[in-house]
Amino acid sequence: MVFFTPPVKLRLWITVAGEPYFVIVSYLHCIHLSPHSVKKHLWGISVKRRAIILSICFLGMILTAFQGVRPARAIQVQQSGKPNPQIEKILGEISSTNIEAIIRKLVSFGTRHTLSSQDDPARGIGAARRWIREEFDRYSRESGGRLQITEDEFIQEPTQRVPQPAKLVNVVATLPGTQGESKDRIYLVSGHYDSCVCSQGMLDATSDAPGANDDASGTAAVMEMARVMSKYQFDATIVFMAVPGEEQGLLGATHWAENALKNKLNIGAMITNDIIGNTIGGNGVRDNARVRVFSEGVPSNESEAEARTRQSVGGENDSTSRQLARYIKETAELYLKNFNVTLIFRRDRYGRGGDHIPFLQRGFTAVRLTEPNEDFTRQHQKVREENGIKYGDVADMVDFAYVAQVARVNAAAMAGMALAPAPPLGVKFKSGRQEYDTYLTWQTGKEPDLAGYRIVWRETFQPLWQHSIDVGNVTEFVMRSLSKDDYIFAVQALDKDGNASLTSFPKSR
Ligand SMILES: [Zn+2]
Repeated sequence: MVFFTPPVKLRLWITVAGEPYFVIVSYLHCIHLSPHSVKKHLWGISVKRRAIILSICFLGMILTAFQGVRPARAIQVQQSGKPNPQIEKILGEISSTNIEAIIRKLVSFGTRHTLSSQDDPARGIGAARRWIREEFDRYSRESGGRLQITEDEFIQEPTQRVPQPAKLVNVVATLPGTQGESKDRIYLVSGHYDSCVCSQGMLDATSDAPGANDDASGTAAVMEMARVMSKYQFDATIVFMAVPGEEQGLLGATHWAENALKNKLNIGAMITNDIIGNTIGGNGVRDNARVRVFSEGVPSNESEAEARTRQSVGGENDSTSRQLARYIKETAELYLKNFNVTLIFRRDRYGRGGDHIPFLQRGFTAVRLTEPNEDFTRQHQKVREENGIKYGDVADMVDFAYVAQVARVNAAAMAGMALAPAPPLGVKFKSGRQEYDTYLTWQTGKEPDLAGYRIVWRETFQPLWQHSIDVGNVTEFVMRSLSKDDYIFAVQALDKDGNASLTSFPKSR
């Protein structure tokens, strides 16, 4: 209802004054419901205070007339996930004591260099692999046989870092999904169980290479997650994997990713955990309340056509891997108070790599988790002391409670995704035309527990989703007065328990 258009200054004032007015009106509305409350709350106060409240209310009534000229505003709904009790239980069962035992056991094999002994019963990568397998088998028995253990064995042909053909084995524990419509969707979490003293010798397969942090920490997190999560049910399938050959060129992960591509596996997301156990940096900075998630913005395998679309719609910050990174942050921080997930908007640390890269190169959604402050005197070094400086990746430098926290970050995200429906397909804007409102459409999912959809949005310069609105079980929605020129939108699918999928960014016009 607009009677006249007030001058700009007045309009601004109306906008500012309108806010307390709504608060007061709500207050009065509440006490109006009970005459006793009115007496107590309004007539029971001093004349002066009553006059203030009533005049603000009166002012508000006048302002009502100007509602039509209030500037268009976004619906201010914050991201609204609420904790899932099943996920809370899982996180509570992840044990730093178990993680410490796993890391110390992995270190006890002396070296886990990819080219070290396969047959020695106590030392080398073969002994370490057999032990990981035995542990997975034990978790499987404890899960009533639901966790399925396989060895993905292959012969690596010679490369620069593998002089002779070498046997490599990925140890894989699969927890099949329990929902027919979702069990083909796979969430994969990995750590690499090989180690090295690469700084002194890339091919040195005999020196002690404890690799407690790089990457017994990641392997232990994956194993502990497998132990705990295999006692629970998820709609989608979760794969827990310990891979070798990372230090020799991401070999184990590459082999598995290549087969996944060939077999057209539907991998919803992949997380690699690599160097997640040190809380005192080589720079002396101590930080045990944060983990970094590395995600690429522009996909590693982007085609020319995809690049043209991305440039046209502004999708540099909205690859599926970046959506995964945002999801990990939102989900983990919902459960872990006083623990921060720091998003790093690059594929990996400067000039470096990890097991997520072969997945990215094949078009899968993948990120890397790493501690915030690395100690480079520990990584890939022979265990020794020189000029008072201790080198070597030894177990005593690992903060086991911190590794458990990072495992919980993983578990929260993996469980959330595996319980939720698939991310909505076919999300797009209804038209590519210039419009003041934004029309979003998408295809409906097929899961029986699908409850509806959530639209999230943010200003283009913001790193994280700022707002969300649950729109019910529909396949299109209009965001009034929010232009796709000024905001980034995405859609999530929700199940009836409130589990939310990864966000789908509308790529096409
Ligand atoms: Zn590593």
